[in-house]
Amino acid sequence: METGGGGEDCCVKVAVHVRPLIADERAQGCKDCVTVIPGKPQVQIGTHSFTFDHVYGSTGSPSSAMFEECIASLVDGLFQGYNATVLAYGQTGSGKTYTMGTGFKDGCQTGIIPQVMNVLFKKIETLKHQTEFQLHVSFIEILKEEVQDLLDPTCLNKPETANGHAGKVTVPGKPPIQIRETSNGVITLAGSTEVSVSSLKEMAACLEQGSLSRATGSTNMNNQSSRSHAIFTITLEQMRKLNPVFPGESSPNESMNEEYLCAKLHLVDLAGSERAKRTGSDGLRFKEGVHINKGLLALGNVISALGDDKKRKEGAHVPYRDSKLTRLLQV
Ligand code: ADP
Ligand code: MG
Repeated sequence: METGGGGEDCCVKVAVHVRPLIADERAQGCKDCVTVIPGKPQVQIGTHSFTFDHVYGSTGSPSSAMFEECIASLVDGLFQGYNATVLAYGQTGSGKTYTMGTGFKDGCQTGIIPQVMNVLFKKIETLKHQTEFQLHVSFIEILKEEVQDLLDPTCLNKPETANGHAGKVTVPGKPPIQIRETSNGVITLAGSTEVSVSSLKEMAACLEQGSLSRATGSTNMNNQSSRSHAIFTITLEQMRKLNPVFPGESSPNESMNEEYLCAKLHLVDLAGSERAKRTGSDGLRFKEGVHINKGLLALGNVISALGDDKKRKEGAHVPYRDSKLTRLLQV
């Protein structure tokens, strides 16, 4: 799912990515039950068909087509100062982490985030003679309505205990990360690490570091399941020279000829969309399930409000404040 981007007509678009059956599922005799209608952005399940903005089937390698059709324009938009968000939504095991690339391993280039990084740096390379760029990344996760910093070097990963309570050990006395809004409406994360990066290698290292320290815990649905929302945010600042001055030429009044732009791209691997009772949750895990649903529920309401053209034009209330997730993605 993508939101924002380059002034297109609709600000929320939905793409479906059907993953192939994995080895375990084939061994259990599972069969594909989702049919992609050729030439249409439609899937059929039984006698029902559903239409989306884009659909990518389980055969072939959809990731590059998906990137070109859904994501590339958002990266272009970033250079024009547009903020955007890409959300991977689906139940545990549906392929969110794989698609986003937040289970990043050395050399993996197929996920959306590694592809975004590649294109971003290629574009910077072609524009750097006329524009000064500054890039920052942050990588946080929201677990039980608490924001955790995945790039904090003092934040250690604690192995999962018998009761399934995985988590971080943060240095005692470190204040919790807080979401704040500046007087001009910009949302900031007070206390989280923002890494300044100047190369693809440095940005990839942030993705890898954060992915490794992501909290995961087992549920009886999928022991790799993630109960947290992971948000990788790229902030692109540009100082563009409107009339570039080449070496040897005399420079006119510099400040008159510079334009400052700043935009953010949020890339989000959401928590599993399954309901708490389907994962057999109880006790601690149930509590987490309830919190996860709070974020997803609020997200659904925000997207409904943003996707309803009529309501948007009437300036209807968008309930960003109902959860940490939506508050943070407010931009
Ligand atoms: P989620 O993050 O939604 O819980 P994962 O990304 O962990 O799901 O994917 C579940 C399993 O499916 C993993 O073993 C992953 O390697 C595999 N998988 C997901 N998407 C694809 C794909 N497009 N092609 C091949 N395998 C995939
Ligand atoms: Mg996952």
